[in-house]
Amino acid sequence: MGSGFRGAFLGAAAAALFLAATLACGRGDRVAISRPVVGVKIYEASAPFDGLFREWRELGVNTLFVSEALLRDAGFRDMARANGLPLYVIFPVFQDPGALKENPDLAAITSAGTPARDEWVEFVCPARDDFLEHKVEALKRLVAEFDPYAVSLDFIRFFVFWEKVAPDRAWDSLPQTCFCPVCLAGFEKDMGVRVPADLATTPGKADWILARHAAAWTEWKCRTIARAVERLSRAAREAKPSVKVNLHAVPWRPGDFGGAVRSVAGQDLARLAPFVDLISPMCYHHMVRRDPAWVHAVVADISARTGAPVLASTQVSEAYVEEALPPGEFRAAAAEALKPPSIGVVLWSWDALSKSPEKMQILRSLSELK
Ligand SMILES: [Zn+2]
Repeated sequence: MGSGFRGAFLGAAAAALFLAATLACGRGDRVAISRPVVGVKIYEASAPFDGLFREWRELGVNTLFVSEALLRDAGFRDMARANGLPLYVIFPVFQDPGALKENPDLAAITSAGTPARDEWVEFVCPARDDFLEHKVEALKRLVAEFDPYAVSLDFIRFFVFWEKVAPDRAWDSLPQTCFCPVCLAGFEKDMGVRVPADLATTPGKADWILARHAAAWTEWKCRTIARAVERLSRAAREAKPSVKVNLHAVPWRPGDFGGAVRSVAGQDLARLAPFVDLISPMCYHHMVRRDPAWVHAVVADISARTGAPVLASTQVSEAYVEEALPPGEFRAAAAEALKPPSIGVVLWSWDALSKSPEKMQILRSLSELK
């Protein structure tokens, strides 16, 4: 899956032409893309929406990543359709504060034996079948009822507040999860490992597993995330066979932080790629203290490892750090995101962009370059 998808990003005017080209080429072939994706992530808006859509048209925005609330808004959906803007619904999976409030027992557990939480980031255990089933059903209903162009799976990993992980962080300073009873039992059963019965505490068990069976633990985590991605993708396509599935990827390359993308986040992109149509790394360089060139390096790495279409997301303004993100740096990062093999750029967020006339002007000039 995924090949032949690039063309789907053509603008509204060329959509019919693209469709014909895709059908002619079949899913096995790559279709040349004539126009990159220029998307924005937007979480809240209220009617009337005419002004917003006018602004997007004028800025060259051709794709919208929206919250579930906006997808559910009939007026917003109608405007998107009338303007030919495909809607990607952002679907958070394991970051679910509502579910955790209702049932704290769902919480992912750290190696210290405590619920996995860091500021606003709080995760449900990714191995809980009951929770995953609930998400699967919710996604099916959402797609069937509101007909998004694509589903964008977000927070589909093990717990980590990667947005605040700077390049100097060591692997062992990152959180290890999940050591809840469901995960411990699942790991033992699936990987054929027996945790000694005399280890009574969660930290004792976690230390033993990480010291003696680190590779099996990582494999089990990646398997758990792959299972979730597979089930959610399948559910979305059951509701609408033509729906596209995107995956929000933690922007870590295999060698970063001692292999933490697999061993901490549980995201093995080569394993996940066959289940999705495209991968969108969150290349928010400023918050993780990288330079704009890093955006392209992350894209190139993911593309080479997975063969999947990659759509880079970049940040518009500062977050989690005190220093401002200057307009020139915003421009440089967006330009890096537009370099092939990336199929375009998605800006996080519209809210930030709409507050900066200077950055909007930069986007306009980037769009004109295309
Ligand atoms: Zn667990």
